[in-house]
Amino acid sequence: MPKLNLSDLAILGGTPEFTKPLHVGAPNIGNKAAFLERVSDILDRRWLSNGGPFEKEFEKRVAEIAGTKHAIATCNGTLALEIAIRGLGLTGEVIVPAFTFVATAHALQWQEITPVFCDIDPVSCNIDPERIEAMITPKTTGIIGVHLWGRPCDTTKLAEIAQRRNLKLLYDASHAFGCTHLGQPIGSFGDAEVFSFHATKFLNTLEGGAVVTNNDELAAKLRLMKNFGFVQYDKVTHVGTNAKMNEVSAAMGITSLESMDEFIKTNYRNYKLYEHHLRGIAGVRIMSFDESERCNYQYVVLEIDDLTTWITRDQIFHALHAEGVLARRYFYPGCHRMEPYKSYFPHAGLLLPETERMSGLVLSLPTGTAVGPDEIERVCHLIRFMIQHAHELSDALSKLPSKQPERPAVPSVSVNVPSLPPMVPSR
Ligand SMILES: *Cc1c(COP(=O)(O)O)cnc(C)c1O
Repeated sequence: MPKLNLSDLAILGGTPEFTKPLHVGAPNIGNKAAFLERVSDILDRRWLSNGGPFEKEFEKRVAEIAGTKHAIATCNGTLALEIAIRGLGLTGEVIVPAFTFVATAHALQWQEITPVFCDIDPVSCNIDPERIEAMITPKTTGIIGVHLWGRPCDTTKLAEIAQRRNLKLLYDASHAFGCTHLGQPIGSFGDAEVFSFHATKFLNTLEGGAVVTNNDELAAKLRLMKNFGFVQYDKVTHVGTNAKMNEVSAAMGITSLESMDEFIKTNYRNYKLYEHHLRGIAGVRIMSFDESERCNYQYVVLEIDDLTTWITRDQIFHALHAEGVLARRYFYPGCHRMEPYKSYFPHAGLLLPETERMSGLVLSLPTGTAVGPDEIERVCHLIRFMIQHAHELSDALSKLPSKQPERPAVPSVSVNVPSLPPMVPSR
């Protein structure tokens, strides 16, 4: 039902646009029959984990796509980060962005390494190389860059700093599987890179992850670490954990890989549709990707500038949720505002102005193979309608006790408001 009046919005008592909610990160599922057949093989073989044939095959395919000598598959991306950090011998302090999923910081803190949060470049939204050196202390042993939303870090500058300051360089490439940078697959930058194959990621193994590297010694160490340090029956040479990928996950991974090109095609179509249907709304920008590179387009991210729209990202977020559009504020509020980091470094935000700003403006929209063109058009319609009625909507929402903005509100309509931003009528 098209919204005609403000009161048609679900947050103000109207009927929600979607009865079945739209999620960010609904899994991309490949050929179901092929997957089930593989599961049947697994059961017949009675080889469920511990270096099974599907795990081996999946690792081989991941290494090919990442352009690396080695891929070490793991049970999830967080454990992959943890063993990569440990395998690289990181200790003391490691410089990371705070504008990331909390696992990047937790993987350090879990082993009592202090994550030192560095601000982001406001254009790329990735760790800002210009700000890294000011954070280096005698305890610093490494840098972890995150290719946020699949957009690459400035790998050239980061490599230069790491080399000059004798630091290890690791990438959390959880979002960037299947992407390229400088014409080269993401996977081969730094000392190692880590992928996540969680259900919500571009390519999933139900739960899963991998470390990829060209370093033989590191790869051998990580293989031991992911299996308790066993080198052979009854012989352990290394402290280890259990980070193995099981065969069902590997089967899901192999099946997903067979549909990877279709996933990308659908994501790209969705991205272009969002771009088309949101065109011309002042104050709303869709994060762009370098189209000369290969990209997985798994994240459609808006930047909502409330100084132009006169309605905050959070107000749009709540209004969309009421309509059944479960948009996400990735990555609000930043790791530095989560525990335990918030208590350890209560003033970290002072050094992270761009992280603070961007985490208040971004909104990830539902995409992936579960979302169709008609749904995208309706989501965009809602956003356009909300922004066309920004003043009244913002005013009405600020009167709802449960929907108080979590950040300072934009000036209310009662103040002297300059002329409205130009609006392109919706069809
Ligand atoms: C998903 C994600 C992880 C964690 O991966 P899991 O497979 O869920 O453990 C780490 N870092 C980033 C940036 C992520 O998005």
